[in-house]
Amino acid sequence: MKKIALYVGILVILTFIIPFCFTRVTVESKTIANGDMGKQDYKNNQEKINEYSQVDLTPYNYNDYNTIKVLHSKTNTIEELPLDEYLYGVVAAEMPVDFDIEALKAQAIVARTYTIYKIMQNQSKHGEAQICDNSACCQAWINKEDRFERWEEEKREANWNKIVYAVNETKGKIITYDGKPINAFFHSNSGGATEAPVNVWGGSGYPYLQTVQTSGEEGYDQYSSEAEFTKEEFVSKLQQAYSDFDINFDEENCIQVLEYTDGGRIKTIKIGNYNLSGVEVRTIFGLKSANFDIQIGEKINFKVTGYGHGVGMSQTGADSLAKQGYKCEDIIKHFYVGVEIVSM
Ligand SMILES: [Zn+2]
Repeated sequence: MKKIALYVGILVILTFIIPFCFTRVTVESKTIANGDMGKQDYKNNQEKINEYSQVDLTPYNYNDYNTIKVLHSKTNTIEELPLDEYLYGVVAAEMPVDFDIEALKAQAIVARTYTIYKIMQNQSKHGEAQICDNSACCQAWINKEDRFERWEEEKREANWNKIVYAVNETKGKIITYDGKPINAFFHSNSGGATEAPVNVWGGSGYPYLQTVQTSGEEGYDQYSSEAEFTKEEFVSKLQQAYSDFDINFDEENCIQVLEYTDGGRIKTIKIGNYNLSGVEVRTIFGLKSANFDIQIGEKINFKVTGYGHGVGMSQTGADSLAKQGYKCEDIIKHFYVGVEIVSM
């Protein structure tokens, strides 16, 4: 009997304890490697695959929020997905995968918070579904197959692992203010300063959404853009919005900025016989942001800074901060003022 007990004991050690020791070693070395991510580019793709495949995939218990019904707007079908699995598709669609892992983790927490906020709001504007995959309406989502199609073949697995890792490393975490999930707006590039929602959509009630400055955003492609129109095109676009629009380009101050927002975007601008908001001009001319200069020459030229509405987290700002050593929670607290990050 003693012999049998000894064999069983050895078997247990071989089966469970020894592999567990090795697992611990792997996890620790992964943590060290992860700390260096921002500083060095991994040339070895296999190394990346290994690093990000070491993640605990046990589903988190979100109680009432374990699954979400997503409306796929192109096919008009509804799919019910486990919450974090849905978030893989959101992070994959919303943020470039080559961004720093801490920026991707921040994006995962932001997307999870936005999703929970949507479910709680229960607007039912999508019928049975709780959220849709249109970025202009809710938040973007892409399935794994479609995402793979757009990545180089040899990077697909590592890229996907990195996203799964970002979501699972932050599982259960959401952003709250006064104990409630926040309306976690985000955008591509703030141009150096984010915007208060009152200057974009009007209204108030989001004390955590204020203008904050972020350094390093000028290093991204999304930071600056241009748009050019002939004078005829310019007038025609404004007349589509206001049929009695009129402008005399020979007149001094025919275009004049009247007020800027705290975030440096145009609040009010006089163009010809109209005073318009910067956001309105952005929409009429399809500009990337409401932070722009207008030059009148042979043509009308817009020089635009930043990309998106400017409210909440800037994605390139998140990446820039991550590369300066910020962790995901610091990044979130930088962009959303006075918030907490809690486990649901
Ligand atoms: Zn929607």
